[in-house]
Amino acid sequence: MPSPIAHSVSGYVLAKFLPKNLSKNNASHWWDLGNFYPVFVAIFADFDFIPQFIKGEKIHRGITHTLIFAIGFSLIVSWLISYFRKSSFKQLFLFTFILYSSHLLLDLFTAGGSGLQLLWPLKDISFKSIIPVFPQIYHSRGIFNINNFISIAWELSYSVLIVSILWLWNNCSSSKCSE
Ligand SMILES: [Zn+2]
Repeated sequence: MPSPIAHSVSGYVLAKFLPKNLSKNNASHWWDLGNFYPVFVAIFADFDFIPQFIKGEKIHRGITHTLIFAIGFSLIVSWLISYFRKSSFKQLFLFTFILYSSHLLLDLFTAGGSGLQLLWPLKDISFKSIIPVFPQIYHSRGIFNINNFISIAWELSYSVLIVSILWLWNNCSSSKCSE
């Protein structure tokens, strides 16, 4: 799987490209609270490392990496937020589900591992792209391992690329590109 770098930057950038009426987010600076929600949703699936760390069992990339969990998570979180903010549940659900799915998509395009059981518990098939975009991160080898160093450098390059695309998009749509 990619590290939290690629997931969080993808969530942040994707949220900016989604229709404004879905997010109802007026955050103008990256540190505004409204920007943390997409990042939180985009990395949430990997919080399964916490129970794995506590119990010592291999559960990472398990239930939190399934479509049923993505739907359930998006339903509950969106319902809670829309209830307290008195905002549209449907829009927030769509926004949250798309962002959560971005995590699964990136994991599908990662080298190594046995893939994701997206359709669990309906089907026990593992899905994985035959052409990986992201190299594998070896958690057991630590951050100073050369393979992990290359993977993180790759993810940082990917992050710079998509943030640059966003920057260009924002600047072009608000004028000047054709001048
Ligand atoms: Zn993951």
